Amino acid sequence: MSTPASTFVLDDLFARDLPEMSVPWQAANAPAARLVVLNESLAGDLGLDPEWLRSPDGVGFLIGTSVPDGARPVAQAYAGHQFGGLVPRLGDGRALLLGEIVTDDGRRRDVHLKGSGATPFSRGGDGLAAVGPMLREYVISEAMHGLGIPTTRSLAVTATGQQVFRETPLPGAVLTRVASSHLRVGSFVYAALTRDVGLLRRLADHAIARHHPEAANAERPYLALFESVAAVQAELIARWMLVGFVHGVMNTDNMTISGETIDYGPCAFMDAFDPVTVFSSIDHAGRYAYGNQPAIAAWNLARFAETLLSLIDDDQDRAIELATEALGGFGPRYEAAWTTGMRAKLGLPTDVDEAAAGPLVTDLLELLAGSHVDYTSFFRSLGAAARGDAEPARGVFIDLAGFDAWLGRWRALSPDADAMDRVNPIYVPRNHLVEEALTAATNGDVEPFTRLVDVVTSPYEEREGLQRYAEPAPEDFGNYRTFCGT
Ligand code: AMP
Ligand code: MG
Repeated sequence: MSTPASTFVLDDLFARDLPEMSVPWQAANAPAARLVVLNESLAGDLGLDPEWLRSPDGVGFLIGTSVPDGARPVAQAYAGHQFGGLVPRLGDGRALLLGEIVTDDGRRRDVHLKGSGATPFSRGGDGLAAVGPMLREYVISEAMHGLGIPTTRSLAVTATGQQVFRETPLPGAVLTRVASSHLRVGSFVYAALTRDVGLLRRLADHAIARHHPEAANAERPYLALFESVAAVQAELIARWMLVGFVHGVMNTDNMTISGETIDYGPCAFMDAFDPVTVFSSIDHAGRYAYGNQPAIAAWNLARFAETLLSLIDDDQDRAIELATEALGGFGPRYEAAWTTGMRAKLGLPTDVDEAAAGPLVTDLLELLAGSHVDYTSFFRSLGAAARGDAEPARGVFIDLAGFDAWLGRWRALSPDADAMDRVNPIYVPRNHLVEEALTAATNGDVEPFTRLVDVVTSPYEEREGLQRYAEPAPEDFGNYRTFCGT
């Protein structure tokens, strides 16, 4: 396969449908650009030839400096609530939508850049990104994909050859990101704030056509759009919770309409189970703590619903009534997805009734929190316990008697060990491993990074020689802190 640039097309549907939210813009030049990592499998899915992507022309495409004929890169406008406070104009301050690739199966996917230079939305920022944080997004998003969790994907990270100034000078980079779209709750907040109902309706119709086409046939299409987004977000947040993922910055501009996870800034996987876990250095109040994520998703969806009121019904009171009722569906939907997932993690046969399963889950989480148990490795070791070897699971509890009592109740339900191994990952991008890989890559050695990507993209399959990837951080790793907007 080869990809003559002339045969592949970057469409500009977003820019055509929503010119008011699209500022035509160009990526910054990077004469000494060098590819750091390329996702060959994703390239193949997009119909792009990896060999061509590695060529000077291909690298030019990956950083947006040479785009196919007819492409029209834009910076997208959006608003957002940051830590609860409305910012009416955020937008792509260091990003660009190059355009959309429509693959042979008819799926439309955004090709998007992060770190491609200042835009009219930069608000004093430099528009740039550093190698470390872009590789961080790459490895964590690809791990999420490997876990089967909806997410934006990472096609490549390219070092620009230029320095980015943070606390220290760092090597600059561009991430090439692929997503089913970059529509966010914040996109709707932006459109609603313009008070141009025509624009808002066009945005909603664009979102329905791309992500929730069944809503078009509903009696109230825009209410159905809201319900569909609430449903995919309920499923998504449940998936995060089940693997111990903390997003870290669930602002409304970082919540997608598609239901994909987006914006891997200060995110991290929790080690010891604790609902109040926070990694982000700026999240002092714990707004985006692990255990708060479902409530924050509901809060964000309420902001989304507000933007749609004028489309839902001409009578404002009636619109509020309908939206409130629809929003009320989020909690039960989330609970159902999470409960189903927890039952699967425990390998419970389907005939076990909720009266037994519910308290079993609640009691286990209390035991995990009480003994500061490593979340990921515990659930994996529980598979071994279902096979008869309970020692690895038992050994991590301070309250041994409490755990033994729980173990007896659980085993009496005949858990299915093989089913458990299919849903309890053995390898997640653990914070100490991510840091180690990023430090090496920033210093020029990308091998630990590519190895980590390889391990975490097949998270359920135990492999020889990878024991250190399955273990919690050593004690001396200390409290982990992550940073935003780096
Ligand atoms: P984020 O926290 O990455 O979701 O970004 C929030 C907002 O800040 C978005 O509008 C970004 O485009 C913008 N932003 C983040 N970092 C930079 C930067 N280095 N230069 C310009 N804008 C930025
Ligand atoms: Mg963002």
